[in-house]
Amino acid sequence: MADLNLTQNGTCSSPSPTPAASDDHGQSALIFLGTGCSSAVPNAMCLIQPSDPPCAVCSQSLSVPPEKNPNYRCNTSLLIDYCRSDGNHSYVLIDVGKTFREQVLRWFPLYKIPRVDSIVLTHEHADAVLGLDDIRAVQPFSPTNDINPTPIYLTQFSMERFKGSHLIKMHLANCFHIFLTTGMKFPYLVQKKLKEGQEVRRVAQLEWKIIEGNYEKPFVASGLKFIPLPVIHGEDYICLGFLFGEKCRVAYISDVSRFPESTEYVISKDGGGQLDLLMLDTLYKTGSHNVHLCLPQTLEALKRIRPKRALLIGMTHGFDHHKDNEFLTEWSRREGIQVQLAHDGLRVPIDL
Ligand SMILES: [Zn+2]
Ligand SMILES: [Zn+2]
Repeated sequence: MADLNLTQNGTCSSPSPTPAASDDHGQSALIFLGTGCSSAVPNAMCLIQPSDPPCAVCSQSLSVPPEKNPNYRCNTSLLIDYCRSDGNHSYVLIDVGKTFREQVLRWFPLYKIPRVDSIVLTHEHADAVLGLDDIRAVQPFSPTNDINPTPIYLTQFSMERFKGSHLIKMHLANCFHIFLTTGMKFPYLVQKKLKEGQEVRRVAQLEWKIIEGNYEKPFVASGLKFIPLPVIHGEDYICLGFLFGEKCRVAYISDVSRFPESTEYVISKDGGGQLDLLMLDTLYKTGSHNVHLCLPQTLEALKRIRPKRALLIGMTHGFDHHKDNEFLTEWSRREGIQVQLAHDGLRVPIDL
């Protein structure tokens, strides 16, 4: 079981120990389905061609099962279990990466997540979308695809890449781009009607919803309002983070190398108001990277933004969960901002 004692404060005003999932059905929660980089952790090379001595973080996966191993990190993704005012729950999924099926099998039964009501995409890189084919696994069965489609919110830019009407400029670094020869990612998930003579095949049913107003227009997914937060993810690419929650102010920014001034203002204590929780990208423990923040830049950003609490996501095998959280506990004490690495399966009860 994941170390849920990290979850701490369930509400914005009154810290309380984390209740068990079954005890707080009347409250919203954030469930970290994945907290790793695009190639996920363990890094395959550390296991198939081990160094001498072997990588301690990755070799842990050979002896500790993933659900007990905070150093086992699938592609970064968040499930928002949103408890509406009438007590009914909606389940909003942010990003559907290459490891989506594994994440569903591991965490949905444990936390009694029965379905996905809507999907929100930060961008269209492989580690954010290549699990979309498996969305059918969390949809009702119909051999004729006659079911209510799941709404999926994305930018026009991402939509064009799904449809394949543009070829994207390749860029390097650890977000892969995978293209079919036509340049399309998911032509069969975008297609509305069958062509003449085309057989019915069971595929995920999605209702594509474009985030309007050049990324900036808020939208409502399954009753929860999201404010898009455009960020630079490599200087040639804009990715979205999201601000949500009315009781607690929460921001999720999974892929960022630089904050535009307007976005940083909205989420800063000295600007739009202090966040109760910021989930923020950190790729490597040291150094820097062209399309992601690494720990030194992440901590600098936290000192500027000053959320009450931050949970870091998107880590490579360079991070050793417990060891690095000890360092972050010290840092938190010094700086007055509570910061920890998140881990797969972490569940944070929160009022939204
Ligand atoms: Zn490793
Ligand atoms: Zn990316």
